[in-house]
Amino acid sequence: MRMDSRHNPVIYRGRIVNPKVDGSCEEFQNGCLIVGVDGCIADVGPWEDIKQQLSAAEGWRTVDFGSQLLLPGFIDLHLHFPQFDCRGMYADSLLTWLKKHIYPVEARFGDSSLARGTAKRLLHELARCGTTTAVIFSSVHAEATDILFEEAASSGLRAIIGKVLMDEGEHVPNSLLQNWRLGIEESVALCRKWHGASDGRLFPSVCCDLFRAAYDGSGSGCQITWSVCSNARVRDPRGGEPYTKAVSAQAKLR
Ligand SMILES: [Zn+2]
Repeated sequence: MRMDSRHNPVIYRGRIVNPKVDGSCEEFQNGCLIVGVDGCIADVGPWEDIKQQLSAAEGWRTVDFGSQLLLPGFIDLHLHFPQFDCRGMYADSLLTWLKKHIYPVEARFGDSSLARGTAKRLLHELARCGTTTAVIFSSVHAEATDILFEEAASSGLRAIIGKVLMDEGEHVPNSLLQNWRLGIEESVALCRKWHGASDGRLFPSVCCDLFRAAYDGSGSGCQITWSVCSNARVRDPRGGEPYTKAVSAQAKLR
């Protein structure tokens, strides 16, 4: 068994679905998952097979979920911190929705206590729903982003978090626009503070001159996350091209 004998494992029993890297999927109706005190999975398989190897396991803690499903943690690849309390708010187009619902709420994230409270609730809700890894767009505010990193560090969640960079945009309140050089400086500072923090669970990401600078600034190995244009009416105000195409061309990203 792949297990470090220095650790006392916890034995979880239940119906286990185990997706594998080759695209196949195992299912153990009467399954068993062993987790070491380091939090790593030591073994997984049918209970009938594994219990043979556990003769010395008397007294080990067992959590029996019966016929309930045990699944790997979910990975959320795209969510926005300031939009947590905007779920269910409707508008007939993306731009109308941003203007009516999102920008006013995001502007409030300059308030650190609001950012702190929202970060705690967001991370708790992710864990409650079985999400163990998330790629999170923060707001344009460096302090709110720093707070989100702090809360993620104490939550145990694995996260890639980026301060949003926004230097122009129709209908965007002035309080959400930021000189791109300052935005990059703040992102780099957050990157230096948090990249690989909490045993590698936390990474920053950053999302034109702005995009090019973000790309150059990513030399430390951080990820760049961007939101692909989801509205055909969003165009580069200086040209006629769809915005993401123009931005990609300016940034010369491959
Ligand atoms: Zn998005």
